[in-house]
Amino acid sequence: MSTPTRLTLTRCPLLRHLPFVAFICLLLVAPYLLPEFSITLLNYIGLYAIVAVGLVLLTGVGGLTSFGQAAFVGLGAYTTAFLTTNYGLSPWLTLFIGLAITAAVALFLGFITLRMGGHYLPLGTIAWGISLYFLFGNVEFLGGHTGITSIPTVSLFGWELKSGNQFYYLIWFVVVLAIIAIRNLLDSREGRAIRALRGGVVMAEAMGVNTQRTKIIIFLIAALLASTSGWLYAHLQRFVNPTPFSLTQGIEYLFMVVVGGMGHVWGAVLGAGLITILKQWLQDWLPQILGQSGNFEIIVFGIAMVIVLQKARVGLWPVIVKLLPLRAEQRSVPEAKMLPKRPLTVTNEVLLEASEVTKRFGGLVANNNMDLSVRAGEVMALIGPNGAGKSTMFNCVSGVDRASEGKIAFLGDSTVDQGSRDIARRGMSRTFQHVRLLGQMSVIENVAIGAHLRGNKGIIAAALRLDRVEEAGLLAEAARQIERVGLAAHMFDPAGSLALGQQRIVEIARALASDPCLLLLDEPAAGLRYQEKQALAELLRKLRAEGMGILLVEHDMDFVMGLADRVVVMEFGEKICEGLPEEVQRDPRVLEAYLGGVD
Ligand code: ADP
Ligand code: MG
Repeated sequence: MSTPTRLTLTRCPLLRHLPFVAFICLLLVAPYLLPEFSITLLNYIGLYAIVAVGLVLLTGVGGLTSFGQAAFVGLGAYTTAFLTTNYGLSPWLTLFIGLAITAAVALFLGFITLRMGGHYLPLGTIAWGISLYFLFGNVEFLGGHTGITSIPTVSLFGWELKSGNQFYYLIWFVVVLAIIAIRNLLDSREGRAIRALRGGVVMAEAMGVNTQRTKIIIFLIAALLASTSGWLYAHLQRFVNPTPFSLTQGIEYLFMVVVGGMGHVWGAVLGAGLITILKQWLQDWLPQILGQSGNFEIIVFGIAMVIVLQKARVGLWPVIVKLLPLRAEQRSVPEAKMLPKRPLTVTNEVLLEASEVTKRFGGLVANNNMDLSVRAGEVMALIGPNGAGKSTMFNCVSGVDRASEGKIAFLGDSTVDQGSRDIARRGMSRTFQHVRLLGQMSVIENVAIGAHLRGNKGIIAAALRLDRVEEAGLLAEAARQIERVGLAAHMFDPAGSLALGQQRIVEIARALASDPCLLLLDEPAAGLRYQEKQALAELLRKLRAEGMGILLVEHDMDFVMGLADRVVVMEFGEKICEGLPEEVQRDPRVLEAYLGGVD
């Protein structure tokens, strides 16, 4: 918990932004205070930081590792170099041409490589990183390994940016712009989707997020930032050759982000600064210390990288933030109008109809010829011993997994060809037996992911902060659902800090935030105390009275029997019994299977 003083400080917007304002002021006065050599260094730090900010988004937040960003820097640099020197085009025009070419290449590469999971993606980025590098070096009209010289300067409102000191402002203007835009983006509906990519893809899809599209978007943003950095580089340096766009440089960008703090936009600036200064320093001193010349700094960096990965995986920025007296924490829910709700279903309408569903995992038949239906305004319980196939049935119904055979219809339409995202859009929402929350994110942000489909503001609106009305609506809805399930006291706590039972309840709030007509709960009461179970039963009764259909898997028989309208009992993937709770409890097959024959 924050101390009261910290709370009041962070509530004051001016004080909350004080470190940022101080940073801008320092940037503005730096050229008047520092020697030209330092400004040159700052220019390079800025150029690297622009690429690194993109990598924070792509790798740190999105979990997609790329070694190939230097190639995109090269695309931006070579495009402007070639077009300005050969055709005399304005650098401002070639900036956009470079971005367009980069976008086309990134989309092409993204479609191919982002489908690859695990280690294949980084390997893929290495492959195209190397390919583009050799392309720059071997194509004759790009000047081969000598490159292109006499690149013109850039003019801004008739002011020619000739010296490094003049260029400095343009570079750092882009850095600050990129930081603001990416920070805004991460704090939005799309931003939550991006943050869910790392370890939450199944959950995010079930909440309606198009994760493949989200991956391509962050890949594109990172590539465009890199390309912009390349454009700036070409006009600062006024010549280009392939060397700075090699795989080595691609690794160095990644190193900056790791050292600075992968998950934080400011970590990119910190990492770029540290590595650039350290490299400069090592290049000066190592040959003197060792008494011979050579690229010794690369060896030192390699060792440092291993140490950082071993000892300080989160990087330096989180360490610094802990030392700062101010932390920008949002601890209030904005005021907003209620979000529009889905038209109510008619009571007793059949919501879900599954018939003859079979699911095989290799030779194992997890569901065999299962029939199941759920109506609006009823609680249908699905019970059975561990391993009976209940969760598998949930996955088939919600589209998380595909049934091997059988028919499943939701609201009268077949879902056989639909993924979990489409099914979610039509009004089904679920929780997971093995809790799928984003542990570092606050409870309210986790729950807001459930409301993803109730907003439509995209990346650009988020980056420009044009999404605030909608965002307030989504957060207010999330807050309402959190209050409804009784977790208001934990609204701003990291979800991972809650007890496991409470995390299950957060999952229910997240499912409710999507305004579903059918709710699938997989063992929601596991790990709850008696009073908490009672409160949960009360909530489910209320939802049922409002007309929601609820499909419930639960092991606590008192809980199930006191709540369910109908019960289906499964064993070894098959339905062995269906009926009213009191009928099922008396059924000898159920007593035999479920209770092992013991009364
Ligand atoms: P329940 O939820 O009733 O405890 P599950 O549906 O989780 O049961 O599992 C049913 C059976 O299917 C178990 O034998 C389990 O090991 C198997 N199973 C579940 N998911 C998979 C999977 N992805 N791959 C292989 N086997 C699976
Ligand atoms: Mg299960």
